[in-house]
Amino acid sequence: MTAALMTCKKDFPILQRQVHGKPLVYLDSAATSQKPVQVLEALRQYYEHSNANVHRSVHTLAEEATALYEGARQKVARFIGASQPEEVVFTRGTTEALNFVARGWAEKHLKAGDEVVTSPMEHHSNLIPWQVVCRRTGARLRFIELNPDGTLNLEQAGEVIGPRTRLVALSALSNVLGTINPIAEVARMAHAVGAVMVVDGAQSVPHQLTRVMEMGADFLAFSGHKMCGPTGIGVLWGKMERLEEMDPILYGGEMIAYVSRDTATWAAVPAKFEGGTPHIAGAIGLGAAVEYLSAIGMEAIWEHDRYLGELAWRRLAEIPGVAVYGPSAPRSGLVAFNIEGVHPHDVAQVFDSQGVAIRAGHHCCQPLMQWLEVGATARASFYLYNDESDIDRLVEAIEATKRYFQP
Ligand code: PMP
Repeated sequence: MTAALMTCKKDFPILQRQVHGKPLVYLDSAATSQKPVQVLEALRQYYEHSNANVHRSVHTLAEEATALYEGARQKVARFIGASQPEEVVFTRGTTEALNFVARGWAEKHLKAGDEVVTSPMEHHSNLIPWQVVCRRTGARLRFIELNPDGTLNLEQAGEVIGPRTRLVALSALSNVLGTINPIAEVARMAHAVGAVMVVDGAQSVPHQLTRVMEMGADFLAFSGHKMCGPTGIGVLWGKMERLEEMDPILYGGEMIAYVSRDTATWAAVPAKFEGGTPHIAGAIGLGAAVEYLSAIGMEAIWEHDRYLGELAWRRLAEIPGVAVYGPSAPRSGLVAFNIEGVHPHDVAQVFDSQGVAIRAGHHCCQPLMQWLEVGATARASFYLYNDESDIDRLVEAIEATKRYFQP
């Protein structure tokens, strides 16, 4: 572990909290991450010093706010290796970004007989928009199947991605299985048949160094709140060409070039997609978050998170009566599991009494639960502020749960 990683926990005030009289162990970063003082301070500074609407007035505060907002766009663009800041569209989060692509690009370009390809491990926000697009256009939704260990079956992917495929939508990292998907490889298959590659980066962008060009994505969606940023802010990155051919979703202020009584023309990308007053503070906070993560180093964070994910998977797999899901390695920094005979909600409740915060449920992945043949799972997820001692507390909480339910 690098020195920066070893000392970063002190940057997160919430991690000093006690829960039920025990020191908090936060293992739910895949749902939302905690926020460092550097991000909290950026929000406070903006509201205390420069708060104004952006792109409208010419007074000093408005100009400062606009510079901060556009500065955040540049920071995010650099963070993901975008070729220009204008390719970064601020949205409410991954869900909104994927819905924008479905409504603004796919509904416009797809027709009956076309095919959309996705996988059974997708979060509902990277599945339902495509179901609806297919229903509206007459296109067909097809799936890349999974191998028994929860990795993608690439051989079958080569069969399902074919001349009728117009769009492939895939998550870079699974929020349940911890699977690391070979995005660049699937993108090559998609592009070989002229299809567009949409990547759900909700779990990958916070943990993995992201280089959109190398990834081969046409669109990438992610959320600020899972990467040390505020809630309510996220990003749709798209290749300029794709964003230009995509329709806006929100019509109103600031997204226009010219309006007459009867008609209107659209502003250039990205303003075209940012109708209404944006989440200015959120974008500034996200800018501070990506600076914070970059200073620690995304390669170091990725190595650290993967190490914890693989270690936790191995340690939990050794415990009698515990089932773990997804590949053993390589895997990302989370592990979904079940304790025999105990409902995951009860698991989460016993954990909470021990000060250990995890998530239990279907994780917005009901088709994946059907594939796993379980109703729900518990899930522990790690981030830069976690370490091996948190895995000790996780294992102790499992032992406590077993004692409680299986005396
Ligand atoms: N995709 C994946 C893989 C996710 O894990 C999540 C969040 N759980 C989302 C999409 C949706 O993100 P948001 O709720 O921030 O829009």
